[in-house]
Order: sequence, then structure tokens, then C-alpha cells
Amino acid sequence: MTHISTPTTLSQLVARSRKLGADRSVCNWGGGNTSAKSDEIDFRGRPARILWVKGSGSDLATVTEASFTGLFLEDVLPLLERERMSDTEMVDYLAHCFYEPVRPRPSIETLLHGFLPFMHVDHTHADATNYFACAAAGEELARDCFGDDLVWIPYRRPGFGLAREVALAVRARPDAKLVILAKHGLITWGDTDDACYASTLATIAKARDYVEARIARSSSGEHLQGVFSSARVNTLAAEERRTIAAQVAPVLRGLVSAEQRQVLRFEDDEDVLAFASSRDAPRLTKIGAACPDHLVHTKPWPLLVEWIPAQGGEALVASLHAGVTAYVAQYRRYLEENEQQNLDPDAVAPVYHATDAAADPHPRVILIPGVGMFTTGKDAVMADVSAQLYHRAIAVMRGAEACGGFISLSDAESYAVEYWPLEQYKLKLAPPEREFARQVVLVTGAAGGIGSAICRRAARDGAHIVATDIDRAGAEQLAAYVNQKFGSGRAVAVKMDVTDEASVLPSSRRLWLSAAST
Ligand SMILES: [Zn+2]
Repeated sequence: MTHISTPTTLSQLVARSRKLGADRSVCNWGGGNTSAKSDEIDFRGRPARILWVKGSGSDLATVTEASFTGLFLEDVLPLLERERMSDTEMVDYLAHCFYEPVRPRPSIETLLHGFLPFMHVDHTHADATNYFACAAAGEELARDCFGDDLVWIPYRRPGFGLAREVALAVRARPDAKLVILAKHGLITWGDTDDACYASTLATIAKARDYVEARIARSSSGEHLQGVFSSARVNTLAAEERRTIAAQVAPVLRGLVSAEQRQVLRFEDDEDVLAFASSRDAPRLTKIGAACPDHLVHTKPWPLLVEWIPAQGGEALVASLHAGVTAYVAQYRRYLEENEQQNLDPDAVAPVYHATDAAADPHPRVILIPGVGMFTTGKDAVMADVSAQLYHRAIAVMRGAEACGGFISLSDAESYAVEYWPLEQYKLKLAPPEREFARQVVLVTGAAGGIGSAICRRAARDGAHIVATDIDRAGAEQLAAYVNQKFGSGRAVAVKMDVTDEASVLPSSRRLWLSAAST
């Protein structure tokens, strides 16, 4: 009667998931899901096979046992007999299959795991296999790379229909070792936890080696065109980039906050600079997302600002105005055109409505050639998520370009995921926003008793904090406390002497004001 497989199966699954999530080129933030099946004893003392699958909205890198949900597999499997099932029916049905009552709603992709006959299954959105999944010649090249081990499934939005299609395809090909979902991701499996993990890593490594070899050949000019090798714009020196970013950040923050206040994040990593400054960027940035689950954090396209450094700071401000205006118009058109006609292929009734607050039409990713990338979010953490996902997109575009050219979801397909209620549900799991959410509060004398109390209180109520003090170490200590308690990026420390005007006006801002007044 006593059976100890639960802790073992589940704790192994947690460990495997965290290992996969630790490498963002394997599992992007919040993306991918894992499962294991084990034999348990149910609440009435009967043996039962349980499907343990990740809950909706958690991130593999930080999952715990509480992030997973157990479902009675014998209740899940009969669904394979059905030909169609709406999202609502699927969610309602799965709610009746819980092995233990107090668990999160299981992943959107639960049936993908449940229908496959393997004990351990990983579903990831790995960069390397998405080189194929998001490329014009992807299927052909993936077959060349993986041979008969591969099952290729054309794009279909996640849900019942996709899970059933994958299950039937794998059933027909019992020797297959992996499934690539076009424009989406990878499924791998194993009889044991170790075998599953090994198969996932080996599959990704094989795809990476194959595509990197093509990229290397293309770079040496033998076979293919170069990938991001050709710069359209010269990259500025690091200090100039930061100065320009500081100059335009307040303008940009105002522009993207027209409907809802946003927090901005800036970076100028090498891959971002190479991409934003490349000849390929104007074409590639119009194509679409590199993975469906980037959409709610990046939207289908970034804003690539039409500007070159030689034009100077004032021209950049004008280009940002024009770029954001054009982006908003384009995004509104995308909403209108797709809201009317988008029917869920698996649903009984159309369920998409882009009418809630999520439909803010402003860009989440803003690329400035030669300078870097701004991302936006309701807080620093979410602005960082958008940035991390865009790094993945750049990597996927680079690989896909070497495989016949990057392709993405159609507008209708993007919309169907971006405004899919099950995708929006993940966003709604976040706690309600507090009074000072989306605000940045600057506190002087932040290292002192009153100042630090104000910082802690404002941070507790949702604010981001600029902690300034003549005592730099004290301000840094306070900022570290706020970041540790309320999330990374919530506070920065700045040394400032309020009795000295030159110290109060940061140099970049001062430069900007003098440039604007001449
Ligand atoms: Zn997926």
C-alpha cells in the first residue's frame, strides 16, 4: 500500500525541469513544459497512473513540486477518441482529473504530454531546433539532420487539436525520437528521467551543430549569404551609446506610456547591436515572432527605429515619435483585422476579444541601430523578460536565415495566440497592481532613517526606486535590500548631493538639455 514513487518521480521531474530552464537557449522564460508519469495509490486506495505536468504560467528555471499538477491518466486518455474539443471544454474536463485537489491549472499543453505513450516527456522551445522550425527550408534540413528519428508537424495553435495530431503521428511512427512543431518548438522523451534529459540535450546539440556548420560555411562565403554579417549602420562606442540612450529614454518612456505607464530597460549587448545595425534587420523585424509564446511579451514585431547615428540626437527623437505613431497604427490594424475573422480551429465558438487592457498597441521592443535595445514592461522584471525573449528571437533568426530564411506565424496565427484566453490567463495569475506600480520614485537622502523608510514603503506599494544620497554605500545597501525583497531591477542607487546643482543634474541629462536649447 505504501508507495514512494511520488516524491521520487516528482522531485526528479522538478530537478530535470530546473536544469532545462537554467539554459535560456533551451527554455525561454515561462516557455516549455515537462512531464512524468508514475504509478500511485489514489485517495480510495486504488492503484492509478498519474500524469505529472507543469502548471500554467510557471517558469521551468524556478519550478518546485508545488508548480506541478497530477492528473489521473486513465481519465485523460479517453479524450484521444474525440475528434475536437474547445479550449473551454478542455480546461473544464482537466479540472475533473486532478489527483490532488489543491494544484495549479495544468499547462495549456497538458494533452501533448498525456497522449504520448512515454513515461517522461520534455516540450521545449529550444533555439537550435527552432532554427529549423522557423525556416523556409526547415523541414527538409531537419530531415537531413535527424533522418527517420524526426516527426514534423505543420503549425497549428497549441490545444486539443495539436496534441491529438502529434499523438497520432507518433503512434504511426513508433521508432521516432523527436517531434518538431513548425514555428513553435520541440518534443523529446525517454523511458527514464535521465534518458529523457539526455535525449533533449542530444537533439538540441545535433541541431545546433548542423546549423552552425551551415552558418560557418556561409560566413566563409562558400555556400550561403552571410548572417547579420553586413552592417547597415556603424555601432557607436559604448559611452556614446549610453549617452544617447539616457537622452532619449524620457521621451521614449512618455511615448510608450500613452495608454499605460511602462518601465523601460536598456541594453546594448553584442548580439542586439549586430542585429539592430544589420542590413537584414529592416526585413527580419517585419516577419513576426520566433516562437508563439514570445508574443504576449514582445508582440509580433519590434519597432526598428528609422535613424542612423550620423543624424544626431534630435533626429532620433523625431524618429522615435514617428516610429511609435506608425507602430501603434499598424498594431491597431492588426487587432481590427484579426479580431473579426479569427476562429479557433478547435473551438466550438470564437473566443478572441482584444478589448481588455492587454491590447495596449505600443511596442514592447524598440531597436535603435548603432545604439541598442529598449524593452518595456509593467515593471523591471517584465521589461527584462521581453529583453530575454528578444535575445532568443535574434538567435533563432540568425540560425533560420542559414536554413532558407526566417519565417514566422501569419498575422492571424499570431493574433490567435497573443489573444488566446489560455495565454492571457497566464498573465492574469500575477497579483493585482499596487498603488505605485509602473511609477519610478526618486528619493533623496535615501540612506537616512526617513529616506530609507520612504523607499521601503514606496517599493512595497509597487514603485521602482532611485535611491540617492551623498552616502553612496548607504544608498547601495538600501537598493540591494529593495531588489532582494521586491524583485531585481526595482531599485538603483545614485550618489547625489542635493546642495550641488551639478551633482543633481546627471551629466547625460545636462548634455541633452543644452543640446535641445541650442
Ligand atoms: Zn510550446
